[in-house]
Amino acid sequence: MPDRPVRTRIAPSPTGMMHIGTARTALFNWLYARHTGGKFLMRIEDTDRERSTEEAVQVIFDGLKWLGLEADEEPVFQFVRADRHREAVDDLLARGAAYRDYMTPEELEAERELARAEGRVVRSPWRDASPNDAPDRPFVVRLKAPQDGETLVQDAVKGEVRFQNSHLDDLILLRTDGTPTYNLAVVVDDHDMGITHVIRGDDHLNNAARQTLIYQGLGWDVPVWAHLPLIHGPDGAKLSKRHGAQSVTDFEAMGYLPETMRNYLAKLGWGHGDDEIFSDEQAIAWFDIVDVVSAPARLDWAKLNHLNNHYIRQAEPVRLAGLVEKVLASRDWPLEAGDIAVIERTIPFVRDGAKTIPELADAVVFALKRRPLELPEKAQAAMTEEMLARLSRLREALGALPHWDVRDLEAAIRAFAEREGVGIGKFGPQLRAVLSGGAPAPDLAGAMVALTREESLGRLDDALSRPA
Ligand code: GLU
Repeated sequence: MPDRPVRTRIAPSPTGMMHIGTARTALFNWLYARHTGGKFLMRIEDTDRERSTEEAVQVIFDGLKWLGLEADEEPVFQFVRADRHREAVDDLLARGAAYRDYMTPEELEAERELARAEGRVVRSPWRDASPNDAPDRPFVVRLKAPQDGETLVQDAVKGEVRFQNSHLDDLILLRTDGTPTYNLAVVVDDHDMGITHVIRGDDHLNNAARQTLIYQGLGWDVPVWAHLPLIHGPDGAKLSKRHGAQSVTDFEAMGYLPETMRNYLAKLGWGHGDDEIFSDEQAIAWFDIVDVVSAPARLDWAKLNHLNNHYIRQAEPVRLAGLVEKVLASRDWPLEAGDIAVIERTIPFVRDGAKTIPELADAVVFALKRRPLELPEKAQAAMTEEMLARLSRLREALGALPHWDVRDLEAAIRAFAEREGVGIGKFGPQLRAVLSGGAPAPDLAGAMVALTREESLGRLDDALSRPA
């Protein structure tokens, strides 16, 4: 490979969803480009006109944007480049590296059967025919690939992979209707985009051999290949919908943060020693494709959840509040103006236990309840005269506090228990029920700070004034 700046790319075919494997491929390309000071590009392989709808393309842009892996240059669309692909074929024809094959469908079928019977690949009689003999009928253009020796794919992940040329047929470059085929388009586009490193899923390893032959036919430099192992589910089977999630949108909807996904996906097939948690900057500094392992990587939900909890604890509450609000809106929670501020204020007290955004949403719900709160049955039954009297003394003590912060509230609750001559267990659960209406809530002091003085005392007052 000539010594020029690294240019990598992600080349998804719009299918209507963005598989998490595509996201991981994008990430590795992005990391490698960043690591080397190169550029990360994007090509939409939209030659399947039925599937390549505007929405399907948008899903890819949205997915990459959400992941924070946007390309450094404008995206290239493959379909509109068909003329350029045909031009490359003219070039190959002129160089004698391709030929027109006039076999009729019947002739091709007969050759296929013969080839199968003889245990060899299809060969066209037109490969060595003189162009002067060309009949006036439809043709395909095929690559005039070498028939003996081998094609070496020097792969940065897989090592040296050898393909016997006798096993490769002369692949079709242009169909009878003049449309370019997939492998041709990929080579011409990668070349024109100046791609130096083709990093992609290892389901494309066989294509690498075919594409190498096209590069050679055109007299172009072959890029560095790096074929990544697929992502498997926890059971070792190729990751699919039945594993609970397979697309970027699935993981987003389940409440994983993009920085979690970047960190986690980086670890699927690559790693830096035993480091589990690392920043983008660290990944960029450490990443090298030669360190990618060739065995399939398995999705591990426990590890993913652990990482997400880490990043939830790191994130700005205001950002998390926006995400929680969306989750609640999707649950038809009756949000009101001001709720977002309550959510933001509550998050620091509840996020330590949250593994996903929906879990974080569950944890803030107590603070969003509207007064007067309904008490769960058990708490209602525990509201005896004695309990009411105790809670009303507690209400007074709390109301007299000059500061409403965790430290002072904790101290006040401890001191109150001592004065009453009981353990906190004698009134704490009841206070918690009064404050939360039975929803999950953090410890008492945290819950009261999250609620504010006014709301906490208001909830207490409601409970004290309710008929027993
Ligand atoms: N369009 C191909 C895919 O979505 C990727 C081709 C490539 O990376 O060379 O699998």
